[in-house]
Amino acid sequence: MADLKIERIDVFQVDLPYSGGVYRLSGGREYRSFDATLVRITTDDGLEGWGESTPFGSTWIASHALGVRSGIAEIAPRLIGLDPRRVDRINDAMDGALVGHLHAKTALDVACWDVFGKSVGLPVCDLLGGRTNVEMPVISSIYMGDPDDMRKRVAEHRALGYIAHSVKIGDEPAEDAARIAASLADKRPGEFFIVDANGGMTVETALRMLRLLPQGLDFVLEAPCATWRECVSLRRRTDVPIIFDELATDDASIAQLIGEDAAEGIGLKISKNGGLTRGRRHRDICVAAGYTISVQETTGSDVAFAAIVHLGQTVPEKNLRCVLECRDIVALKTADGNFDVRDGRVTAPDTPGLGITPRLDVLGEPVVSYS
Ligand SMILES: [Mg+2]
Repeated sequence: MADLKIERIDVFQVDLPYSGGVYRLSGGREYRSFDATLVRITTDDGLEGWGESTPFGSTWIASHALGVRSGIAEIAPRLIGLDPRRVDRINDAMDGALVGHLHAKTALDVACWDVFGKSVGLPVCDLLGGRTNVEMPVISSIYMGDPDDMRKRVAEHRALGYIAHSVKIGDEPAEDAARIAASLADKRPGEFFIVDANGGMTVETALRMLRLLPQGLDFVLEAPCATWRECVSLRRRTDVPIIFDELATDDASIAQLIGEDAAEGIGLKISKNGGLTRGRRHRDICVAAGYTISVQETTGSDVAFAAIVHLGQTVPEKNLRCVLECRDIVALKTADGNFDVRDGRVTAPDTPGLGITPRLDVLGEPVVSYS
């Protein structure tokens, strides 16, 4: 094939207000708005590819929005002149420019996949291995609050067609038990609940909380504790299925997870895990291990959601738990595309690349450009 060259990289910044006012997580963490970075890669023959990286504030994992743009400043000059379709080589070049900082690499990596798809007339999901015929359930994100209020918010999402819910806890054991019981009180057949503590519990509070629950509640427990040791210790002493999220970020941690038989699955967040090239590898490792996978993002707008949908669309049905409807969390639309959620489910469009058309009036002028 004739070479295609990255000629220009434009970086855009936009604030995404939280759609529900104040988002609360364990440890007193609060979020009102998310700082999004979008990139546009332009090739020498005029193709454009888009990617997004929107960290969940600066207090979720070791990533932050200013770091995305500082990381891109280190990396972008090294990508000029490279062929964006050689995605593994692009990632080699990014790793050669900057160690770690996976969230900074994500927007660039995703934009390369968008170009790749447009250059060959195929949707990204087909380049990632080929689409399944699964109509993917989207999962709600129910922030931590008063138990009755959480029950109400689950019901509101159920009325919209959601069959999967991520319920946030990580506070006092009796309060957390009440939150879980209330959120699951109206559970219907086929509904799925992830109870997510975002690392907010100790082994002690987690064990106490689990003892306080009514028998027979059907849920998986995600990210119970902040450290690897605590999560593994808890896992050895409970029969509740454990899912890793914040601690499953790269090849090494996912391999270790499987080696230690420390979980039943992971939350694969594309920015956290470094983009679609690495996400593809993490998908394959997890499928080989028999894990379940929730394909998600660390919030984000329409471009981030498109990446989630394309990767999710390649996960075999028995391994795919859900995809995150991150657009539900933010109150700003940055792009258009055929990503309608119907009856709580979504499928990837057939359009080449990601299948999105950015709203340039929303994005404004680039904050910085590299060429
Ligand atoms: Mg989580």
